[in-house]
Amino acid sequence: MNHVEHLYLHIPFCTHICAYCDFVKSRYHEGLADQVIQRLIEDIEGCPSHHLKTCYIGGGTPSALSLQQLERLLESIQNKWRNIEEFSVEINPEDMTYEKMACLKKHGVNRLSMGVQAVQQRLLTILLAITILRMLKKVTQWAHECGINNISYDLMYGLPTQTIDEFKTSILEMVTLNPTHLSLYALTIEPNTAFGRQKIQPVDNELEGFMYQCAIDTLTQLGYHHYEVSSFAKSYDFRSQHNLSYWRYKDFIGLGPGAASKVGNQRWTNTRNIHHYTLKENLLSEEVSLTHQDIVIEHLMMGLRLDEPLDLSFLSKEYPEFEGQLNEVLNQVSDLGWCYYDYPKLVSTPLGRLFLHDFIVKIMEALDH
Ligand code: SF4
Repeated sequence: MNHVEHLYLHIPFCTHICAYCDFVKSRYHEGLADQVIQRLIEDIEGCPSHHLKTCYIGGGTPSALSLQQLERLLESIQNKWRNIEEFSVEINPEDMTYEKMACLKKHGVNRLSMGVQAVQQRLLTILLAITILRMLKKVTQWAHECGINNISYDLMYGLPTQTIDEFKTSILEMVTLNPTHLSLYALTIEPNTAFGRQKIQPVDNELEGFMYQCAIDTLTQLGYHHYEVSSFAKSYDFRSQHNLSYWRYKDFIGLGPGAASKVGNQRWTNTRNIHHYTLKENLLSEEVSLTHQDIVIEHLMMGLRLDEPLDLSFLSKEYPEFEGQLNEVLNQVSDLGWCYYDYPKLVSTPLGRLFLHDFIVKIMEALDH
């Protein structure tokens, strides 16, 4: 196996279930969580023990675990890999205690990602989410006291009945806490969620576009770098190194139910069924051998999300059959102002990132010919 430097672990538990959520998750149950942790530890022990650049524990909500469960999991990671450069954990402020925060710090966690979504109670009630601002501030303070200063908040826009002013207030409220990073996500309504079942409609596309632009204007004026479609960093050093590995199309391993991995041209996704995962039954929900065309499209699709240049010299080395068509379409798209293209360097413009979906469709159509 290639040397993989990026690891994702999925903790499929939450203390409550949000109305829009399509992640693999279940209400926290101590016995089942013990079994998942045991299984994860076995998987961690079975991983090759090379140096790990980034580790990201997401979910679900890792902070829904008990202190003892968190300790066991983090110990097994620390026993396996020392000095992980960026070690992130997603937390829900409502689940946190000072002891859990100290435990994260003790085991090398150096970055936190907190789901906030919005600061208005009426919107949180619609989402069935429960991050209360007072608790968020307290947990942020605990993080600083324990020495974890790299903190990212997630906000959502395009929520039912949400106004631009409310979204801007949420952003400004977060900025007062001086985060190193912010991720902003548009609400998508998936059929298999409470919102999907209730046939809730998102806000119209135009309003969603205004909200997105408002976020870009507000945060860039405040000095944040809009380095990826949905991500803003206080300085380039605070970009999410783990997520950059996905956008740079690096290999990664995912452990836990529903977690995906990509190594070379192989991609697989673990079963979403938590019981199957603990029992090692029907382990994979998907296993794909990527074609050359898949790899070229995915590489561009991920790389064009970033404001950094993509080096296309891999094309002539590994996939020369696509060079001609790509060259043609990239010159056309460059004329639309969606990218700067000077082979082998390609970088999307802010306009190109706004029209990323159309940009990728053009590339896919060109490669299909
Ligand atoms: S959005 Fe996060 S906290 Fe809410 S149910 Fe999904 S994983 Fe759990």
